[in-house]
Amino acid sequence: MTYFLDVILPIPLQKAFTYHITEAEAQFIKHGMRVAVPFGKSKIYTALAYKIHTNPPTAYEAKTIHQILDEAPIVTDLQLILWQWIAGYYMCSLGEVMRAAMPNAFIIESETVLVRNENIEISEATLKDDEFLIYEALQYQSSLKIEDVVSILDKKRILPVVNSLVEKGVLQLQEELYEKYKPKLVRYVKLHEAHKSEEKLQELLEILSRAPKQREVILTLFTLEASEQKPIKVSELSERSGASTSIIKTLVDKSILQEYFIQTDRVQFEGEGDEQTKQLSDAQTQALEAVKGSFDTKSVTLLHGVTSSGKTEIYVKLIEEQLNLGKQVLYLLPEIALTTQLVQRLQDYFGEKVAVFHSRYSSNERVEVWQNLKNNLEKAQLVIGARSALLLPFSNLGLIIVDEEHEQSYKQFDPAPRYHARDAAVVLANIHKAKTLLGSATPSLESYFNATQNKYGFVELKTRFNNVLMPDIELVDLADKYKRKRMNGHFSDRLIEEMTETLDEGFQIILFQNRRGFSPIVECTTCGNSPQCPNCDVSLTYHQYKDQLRCHYCGYYSVMPKACQACGNATLDTKGFGTEQIEEEVKTLFPEKKVARMDLDTTRGKHGFERIISKFEQQEIDILVGTQMLTKGLDFRQVKLVGIMNADNLLNFPDFRAHERSYQLMTQVAGRAGRTDIRGKVLIQTYNPHHNILQQVSTNAYKEMFAEQMNDRYNFKYPPIYRLIKITLRHKDYNRVNLAADWYAKSLRQVFKANVLGPEFPPISRIRNLFNKNILIKIPQNQSLAKTKEAIIKIDNSFNAVKDFRSVRVVLNVDNY
Ligand code: ADP
Ligand code: ZN
Repeated sequence: MTYFLDVILPIPLQKAFTYHITEAEAQFIKHGMRVAVPFGKSKIYTALAYKIHTNPPTAYEAKTIHQILDEAPIVTDLQLILWQWIAGYYMCSLGEVMRAAMPNAFIIESETVLVRNENIEISEATLKDDEFLIYEALQYQSSLKIEDVVSILDKKRILPVVNSLVEKGVLQLQEELYEKYKPKLVRYVKLHEAHKSEEKLQELLEILSRAPKQREVILTLFTLEASEQKPIKVSELSERSGASTSIIKTLVDKSILQEYFIQTDRVQFEGEGDEQTKQLSDAQTQALEAVKGSFDTKSVTLLHGVTSSGKTEIYVKLIEEQLNLGKQVLYLLPEIALTTQLVQRLQDYFGEKVAVFHSRYSSNERVEVWQNLKNNLEKAQLVIGARSALLLPFSNLGLIIVDEEHEQSYKQFDPAPRYHARDAAVVLANIHKAKTLLGSATPSLESYFNATQNKYGFVELKTRFNNVLMPDIELVDLADKYKRKRMNGHFSDRLIEEMTETLDEGFQIILFQNRRGFSPIVECTTCGNSPQCPNCDVSLTYHQYKDQLRCHYCGYYSVMPKACQACGNATLDTKGFGTEQIEEEVKTLFPEKKVARMDLDTTRGKHGFERIISKFEQQEIDILVGTQMLTKGLDFRQVKLVGIMNADNLLNFPDFRAHERSYQLMTQVAGRAGRTDIRGKVLIQTYNPHHNILQQVSTNAYKEMFAEQMNDRYNFKYPPIYRLIKITLRHKDYNRVNLAADWYAKSLRQVFKANVLGPEFPPISRIRNLFNKNILIKIPQNQSLAKTKEAIIKIDNSFNAVKDFRSVRVVLNVDNY
């Protein structure tokens, strides 16, 4: 009997690849194990064993696998079921899901690996078509193998292109086969065997009496060994004895001490895990019971609880129950970087059972969470993570909590898989026969709609914890204030009054501004020209701190010019305003107060957020100016006033979700005010105080907002009534992207008729030198999603067969946000 193995390769190709295996291998290999396989001419890939069978492939001769890399599967069956669903639903390859799911360290790389040369700036205009495709691919993955190049260029003779790229310094070659993950080793010491006896020891101390520092090390080691009953780290010995590590090394070199290593976990927990969970209020208890009751009949429940109603403590009780049953729990957050507060809170309750999984952690740290979870260890019984945590090897999942379920960052944009973590969470829970709890103060229309349709259970929590009143929201009419000269910079007299009062009382203030940078747009007051990015179709923004113009899309920057480049007059004016300018103005208005800014620019690095958040918590900051980041579930005790500097740029954003989002954002920012016992105050500055959304925000009228927005979605055929698939075509050549988009849209129209919109250039049509053009497909409720996708795939295949279109990238985004 001849045996074959289908494998998943971490690449965007849809086909399954089949390899030949021996009978012994067929008995040993289980799906989910890694195997090294040859691919293309002579290269080796890490692939995942998927299916063993006896049917030879018809189109090609199966090659033999190179070697088996695991003793046991590292990917579980349940994981594969979810991956398959994601690949099918979001129209990508299983390989792409695999790449998103597996820490890089799991993917062994073979001989010739092409990596991007990080050290040089490349002018994309100097690249030929083929060269550009390789360069572009390396923007999406860290390395390419020769086989990838073959498939990207769709030709055999690729070496000339690769060589030319190497010559131009675009690529570097990396040669070796290695396992990337190395467990962290900690250095320990003990006394060398030769000196263990009483007699030898006396001798040793005698000798060392002339080297008092070394003698001190030995004595300290004895004390530590006697008192601690555990291996002694070099670092600990050095610290306790006051001797440098080089003295310890001398002792090791003299064979007096002996070094050894123990593998340790990189991620160490901090909380003690012995804190009792809180006693719930009556309202919380009722909500908790209602959630449990709802889970009797529904697998998904939406918890709509106003800001600061104490949703987290309800989650904690549900988590506690699952952990006591020995089940695993997944706690999803939209943006893990902002969750120091939460992680600390959960570690206090659940200690070492808490594992954190997110992209700011190193690959090695992620491997550890993976292993612990797969082995169903207590150490990772509660996983807190951002969306990719869904793809981990859960073995015994009981509950998934999706906190702030309305957040758009749950949807992945680029690269594939472009999945929505909230929706995929529901599928994951079903695979494990577990429950899903969606929580939010401002639910997405999707989830609320599902609740009204009885598809999801629904529980409401209408009062804040401790019966603190919802903040008092006041709308400030900017047009009126400007007319009557009641503005100081971007601050109305009302805002200044409230700020003064709040600071006098010793409370803190949050100011929310939707844009980062000092003043997004520079405009010439003589000719109206504003400097543009040379690579992207956007105006550059002014950053005062460095006196630079910067592009927020590609990172391009230049110094701020003295005069307008179009007309030559020195009349460049900085229009609009961002967080940086607000910060400047606050400093002038309240010179004796401490002001800080929280946006993408000030929060880089692994601990960027934590630093600002903890300073604000410790009240080392009086006024915090920030962007969207401020909205995500933060809990500060002393904030009494929240100012929204300008509501209009939220409301006017060109997107069918703009109103829903504005409601959510403003309600969430407002929810940071008055969370303990004093009532908070919120001021919203706007040119449209009568706008329905602002009225609804100020009266906390979620249901009205929902009804009105749903009406629009019905009328204009948008989600959650219709589904959307967005198709983006991308190419550096304007004409080619136009032709390709027209061809694509025409083919789609033959099938989907009037439900095809576009092709249309997005507001920013050129990014990183590539033109984008979008086509939108609207799918009515009664139309089969599966059939729709089949039709699209058919069209896509014909599209790729057209020679002129081969270099055009097609991006499919299902349920696009
Ligand atoms: P939400 O997530 O609904 O915005 P939180 O769970 O953050 O609200 O709760 C708001 C505040 O109230 C937090 O500071 C929290 O510690 C406190 N809190 C909530 N429930 C309780 C409780 N049962 N006992 C004591 N404090 C509570
Ligand atoms: Zn740019």
